[in-house]
Amino acid sequence: MEARQRQNDGMDRFDAVVIGAGFAGLYALHRLRDGLGLRVRVYEAGDGVGGTWFWNLYPDARCDSESHYYCYSFSKELEQEWEWSSRYPAQPEILRYLEHVADRFDLRRDIQLDTRVDGARFDDGAGGWIVQTDSGERVRARFLVTAVGCLSATNVPDIPGRDRFAGRWYHTAAWPKEGVDFAGRRVGLVGTGSTGIQATPVIAAEAAHLTVFQRTANFTIPARNRPLGPDEQAEIKARYDEIRDLQARSEGGFPYLLEPRSALEVSDEEREATFERGWEKGGFAFFWAGFSDILRDGRANATAADFVRKKIREVVHDPEVAELLTPRDHPFGTKRPPIDTDYWATFNRDDVDLVDIRRFPIVEITPEGIRTENAHYDLDVIVFATGFDAMTGSLLRMDIRGEGGQRLADKWAGGPTTYLGLQVAGFPNLFTVTGPGSPSVLLNMPTGIEQHVDWIADCIAYMRTHGYERIAADEEAEARWVAHVNEVARFTLYRKARSWYVGANIPGKPEVFMPYVGGQTMYKHHLAASVEGGYAGFRLR
Ligand code: FAD
Ligand code: NAP
Repeated sequence: MEARQRQNDGMDRFDAVVIGAGFAGLYALHRLRDGLGLRVRVYEAGDGVGGTWFWNLYPDARCDSESHYYCYSFSKELEQEWEWSSRYPAQPEILRYLEHVADRFDLRRDIQLDTRVDGARFDDGAGGWIVQTDSGERVRARFLVTAVGCLSATNVPDIPGRDRFAGRWYHTAAWPKEGVDFAGRRVGLVGTGSTGIQATPVIAAEAAHLTVFQRTANFTIPARNRPLGPDEQAEIKARYDEIRDLQARSEGGFPYLLEPRSALEVSDEEREATFERGWEKGGFAFFWAGFSDILRDGRANATAADFVRKKIREVVHDPEVAELLTPRDHPFGTKRPPIDTDYWATFNRDDVDLVDIRRFPIVEITPEGIRTENAHYDLDVIVFATGFDAMTGSLLRMDIRGEGGQRLADKWAGGPTTYLGLQVAGFPNLFTVTGPGSPSVLLNMPTGIEQHVDWIADCIAYMRTHGYERIAADEEAEARWVAHVNEVARFTLYRKARSWYVGANIPGKPEVFMPYVGGQTMYKHHLAASVEGGYAGFRLR
């Protein structure tokens, strides 16, 4: 009877359901469908593909990895065909690229847009997943692949009075497609992470007045964006094998190898000259090409932090504003460093103010603006550049239940636990692309995404060849991995920052260092060791 019900339960059956159609979901569809011949359905909440680049339409949204490696590497033809206009292209161009990928690899026919997955339940009897969407559709799939994004669940602060505001408010990652007209308006921007720092100069140039509400001053590095001329593009294309090789050998998936020397073993003059060279190159070149111990040794870190602090004083005319913009409470690089174009200089404008909400926190939003503990600011528009419930937010906003009906939210009540960031014990056949416990957000993300999707596809192929139907992380392997992730984080300075890496930006979120900080090389070694051991650390059935 039960077998017949399962046969006739009216649900469509897929080999795999993929949730999300950003960089990860698009590639997962391509690999699983075109590589393995699986029947795949992708669900995407947005009404277009592109993920991050579909949602983040705020002014001057752009990448901070350089275009020639902030892209897929799986197709040499794609690499050669696509032309990037600049070093750090803006959102519309990256979205066009991902739309092109969807068309070029004929992906759209298996992507259902405008459909949010509400929940998924592992069916112990049938051994697969039942996936439920917000339209009430239910489908079955042997494998469930979450490609929901580490930075896609928006964090809109729950400030009293928000809904009484008479003007309009926006979160930067849920920006209206028609754009926002700032002309003649008094704008308040809350948040000075990568997003706020990118948007500030552009909003300032358009608005009648901009007030930036800063809780934590941030280290930022000049982007030094510039167009890529035809010669440079040709040179990059000719060197792609070498670039990919460098990325593969690097710790961060960027085509830079860390200098082996310490910042403390060189003379003051040489250190300063190295920092200056990195600063002139701009972007992550400053971060990666300097010294090996910036993120490990507090004294080495202080040399980089002091260098950046000096740069702030050189740019910002008003010493009080310069001091307020100067980060003093966390080591350089322990929050993801933004890269900017004229951020500090924007505070030299007469029509831009900086407000210290660490000292005088926001108490409420009134119909007319924002009230802090010591003042009221009249505003027409509020922009929340307040980031994301990172790494776990999008997973936990779904009701995912594993073996025996166990809720993922319960299992992760004390913080996320995974084996290799790929699987959760008790949740068979569920794969988390760039899941917590993997290098994920510490890498150039397309590199980490391709690595994970390839691993998942290879794993499913292995299961097929060997007649396995179920794979789940072993509980002991998971516990050992979580301990290792915490252990390596302790050797770095990352734990000295209250960042989204540890969930400190979300009230009530357990503070656990979520990404794997051991570096790409070590991580790949762990992946390979598991595979060579017949998927050691996983239980196959
Ligand atoms: P996403 O692009 O976030 O896609 C996930 C998709 O899943 C979304 O479209 C979402 O709608 C969908 N989804 C989520 N939950 C559900 C659900 N329940 N049902 C259906 N659909 C769902 N990384 C870098 O390495 N370099 C950069 O330069 C860089 N720049 C960035 C700039 C910005 C403004 C931001 C916000 C992030 C940036 N990142 C960068 C990180 C970026 O998120 C990744 O590079 C990459 O785009 C992630 O791709 P993804 O497919 O994993 O996730
Ligand atoms: P973010 O780094 O988390 O920054 C959010 C900002 O909002 C912080 O200044 C934070 O202050 C502040 N904030 C959060 N909640 C607040 C509250 N309740 N009240 C007042 N202030 C609050 O988010 P993001 O800037 O969107 O960036 C997230 C990540 O996305 C980046 O780290 C990066 O990985 C990626 N990104 C990349 C780019 C790029 O250039 N390519 C651009 C945008 C985003 P605290 O610091 O005190 O928490």
